[in-house]
Amino acid sequence: MRLSRYFLPVLKETPAEAQIVSHRYMLRAGMIKQASAGIYSWLPLGFKVLRKIENIIHEEQARAGHIAMQMPIIQSADLWRESGRYDAYGAEMLRMKDRHDRDMLFTPTAEELITDIFRANVSSYKDLPLTLYQIQWKFRDEIRPRFGVMRGREFYMKDGYNFDLTKEDALHAYNRHLVSYLRTYERMGLQAIPMRADSGPIGGDNTHEFLVLAETGESEVCYDSQITDLKFGDRQIDFESREQCQAVLEEFTSRYARTDETHDEALFNQIPEERRRVARGIEVGQIFYFGTKYSDAMGATVSDAEGNQVPVHMGSHGIGVSRLLGAIIEASHDDKGIIWPEGVTPFHAGIVNLKQGDAEADAACEALYASLTALGLEPLYDDTTERAGAKFASMDLIGLPWRITVGPRGLKNGVVELTSRRTGESEELAPEAAVAKIA
Ligand code: ATP
Ligand code: MG
Ligand code: MG
Ligand code: MG
Repeated sequence: MRLSRYFLPVLKETPAEAQIVSHRYMLRAGMIKQASAGIYSWLPLGFKVLRKIENIIHEEQARAGHIAMQMPIIQSADLWRESGRYDAYGAEMLRMKDRHDRDMLFTPTAEELITDIFRANVSSYKDLPLTLYQIQWKFRDEIRPRFGVMRGREFYMKDGYNFDLTKEDALHAYNRHLVSYLRTYERMGLQAIPMRADSGPIGGDNTHEFLVLAETGESEVCYDSQITDLKFGDRQIDFESREQCQAVLEEFTSRYARTDETHDEALFNQIPEERRRVARGIEVGQIFYFGTKYSDAMGATVSDAEGNQVPVHMGSHGIGVSRLLGAIIEASHDDKGIIWPEGVTPFHAGIVNLKQGDAEADAACEALYASLTALGLEPLYDDTTERAGAKFASMDLIGLPWRITVGPRGLKNGVVELTSRRTGESEELAPEAAVAKIA
């Protein structure tokens, strides 16, 4: 992409309304624009990162054997009356009437609709196990939308639902989700710690939240510092294997790590004092096993091997896709701007032309652009006539992992400058060598 032809409305001033760094940088880098309280337009740069995050989630869900689909944003109240949640959900549910005076609502989550799809189409245990998921816009009329995309009213969420014959099968689905979520967050450059949580209005006993540690997080968390040493890494997991998934669950949940809702002071105090941590975290996902809560209420049964009709065991599993942008920036930035992890960066490298209009500099930039593109990478070429200082400031703000600086003086010696956004280190090298380093 050439910056002169892109839409990147970078702000010079810090927007007064933004209280936390991720919100500030997302506004300043022209990633989002508020449309109304807690509701945002996703400008090209923000939208690009959102798509990257979404793609990682799709890839990891496919790896775990889960099936993508899509359900509507606007739903009829009828199914929610069947489960009892139409009344229970309260003011967070945005409601409306259609022209025929029917009660409709904006989906805050989709247990009812997916259970309805299941009961209409699946009748035998032979069709199980089944896990369906979607990535779709949700609406919750949050009392205090704030911190930009962190707590929006409209937000983008991955929500998945497993259907299983027995509790043991459903707990395997739960573990599978835990494993796949660990992989998913790590690919985004995040450490998201599974912590024992409270199930809230979804119901059920087995639930973990995934938290990214950050001072600006809204949850208070207590944990054993040993947990932050755990890494999933690139281990190969057979998602069909109960033993393998169970072993990962045990490894990642055996140390103390809880949100304030489930915190147990006595248990916490059993950890050696130097390992006790009280901190704040951002909830970027949650997994639940809730058994037959919805299948009982809505009559979602299958026939088992003996021909009995039994309610299916279910769970639901969410990732806060749009919130993740904020969480990644909270976890990875400096005082100049964002530092994107490689896995989610909107462009792989920025090319800064120090003397736009200089025939040699222009040609060198074009050549770099072509070589990077040929390797399947996406460069962002600042081909504007801004002064160098402003170009550098914008590149630092938008946080691409690499910057290649091209100017007539370096070209005389056959070199360009390659700078790592994360370390700030620069080196002079031949253009081909710079490309090779990025690739
Ligand atoms: P919170 O405790 O932050 O209100 P939640 O527990 O109500 O979140 P879930 O029902 O577990 O949310 O939804 C799954 C995920 O969706 C959450 O883990 C979170 O990452 C994300 N999410 C929930 N509410 C919002 C929101 N208002 N804005 C952005 N993301 C959200
Ligand atoms: Mg909530
Ligand atoms: Mg929560
Ligand atoms: Mg939650």
